[in-house]
Amino acid sequence: MSEFNLYIHIPFCERVCIYCDFYVTTARKYMDGFTQAMTKEITLYAQRYPDAKLRTVYFGGGTPSYLPAENLTTIMNQLRSSFNIVQNAEITLEANPNNLSYEKLKSLRDIGINRLSIGVQSFKEEDLKFLTRNHNLKQARESITYARAAGFDNISIDLIFGLPEQTLSTWEQNITEALAFSPEHISVYNLTVEERTHLSKMVQQKKVDLQDEQIELEMFLKTIQLLMQAGYEHYEISNYGKSGFHSRHNSSYWQGSSYLGLGPSAHSFHDQRRWWNVRDIKKYIEILETGNTLPVDVMEALNVQQQCTEYIFLNLRKKEGLDIGEIEKIGGLIFFDTFKNPLEKCKEFIIGENGRVRLSDKGFFLYNKICEEFVSAL
Ligand code: SF4
Repeated sequence: MSEFNLYIHIPFCERVCIYCDFYVTTARKYMDGFTQAMTKEITLYAQRYPDAKLRTVYFGGGTPSYLPAENLTTIMNQLRSSFNIVQNAEITLEANPNNLSYEKLKSLRDIGINRLSIGVQSFKEEDLKFLTRNHNLKQARESITYARAAGFDNISIDLIFGLPEQTLSTWEQNITEALAFSPEHISVYNLTVEERTHLSKMVQQKKVDLQDEQIELEMFLKTIQLLMQAGYEHYEISNYGKSGFHSRHNSSYWQGSSYLGLGPSAHSFHDQRRWWNVRDIKKYIEILETGNTLPVDVMEALNVQQQCTEYIFLNLRKKEGLDIGEIEKIGGLIFFDTFKNPLEKCKEFIIGENGRVRLSDKGFFLYNKICEEFVSAL
């Protein structure tokens, strides 16, 4: 029996934040058509993998909490009737504070969502304004309190550091406030400027000055220090969890497990093949409405070099790093020969122990550059 982790992309947002490069749409009029199309896509995948077992389900986006509770119920019902979802499966939903009334949270809990990932991003009003988030500080605080009251005992909070006007001190205050809610999990991302975002235009037009890299590094190291002191395990570059509360779904990506991605733009991986869906809500609905084909845009089989590249990028994200024997097996290579140069060049940021190679805290901060060094040695 194949085990899968299932991702469902809900692309709707009330407005698009300046830094966002996910596939999102503000067109509410497609919500019902999308829900119907999603039930069809679930059915088609269940036919393709009739003995599949789902270990995790993750509603990401977009803003899944923006979709009305009835639509989410329809999708959950279809999942339960089509797939074997394991007992105690982790079922996560990403949510924005402004969509989280107590009633909405109760209905999410009632349909079986057992983990909530709340996009707080900051406990500072000025940061939320800069990021053009659609919620305010009061809503951020209330959403966590309401989620607890509605019965959520597995809550993750997202925060962003490296904002232009942020200081080390205001960032520390952010973390302190997050800790006061004692969430089971905290994800901390460095603000990045992605191409084709409004933020990227603002930077080009010199309307915003980016944060100094040295200060970003200090913020990153301070985050690790404060969260570890508070009892969180830093198990992946951006992720910290209390013991027993690491994200099972996201960990499955980093472990190279099979996952299916449903919804526009969603990616899947199974049997060394990856594929992704069309990145267009209208096309997505049209394909599923009019036929029995999956809305896949591109599918590719990974060659050995791609498998090694994937392995490096995924495993250097993890606290335990990569397994030397494993990559030697995948690539048919001798680790210390192939990677002699990057190992020498990056030695300050790398720790080798027990047949594994992992990044130090400073190494995590330089993750992209270090991965590029390793991949270019393949
Ligand atoms: S709420 Fe999230 S997904 Fe939606 S636009 Fe903002 S960052 Fe992107």
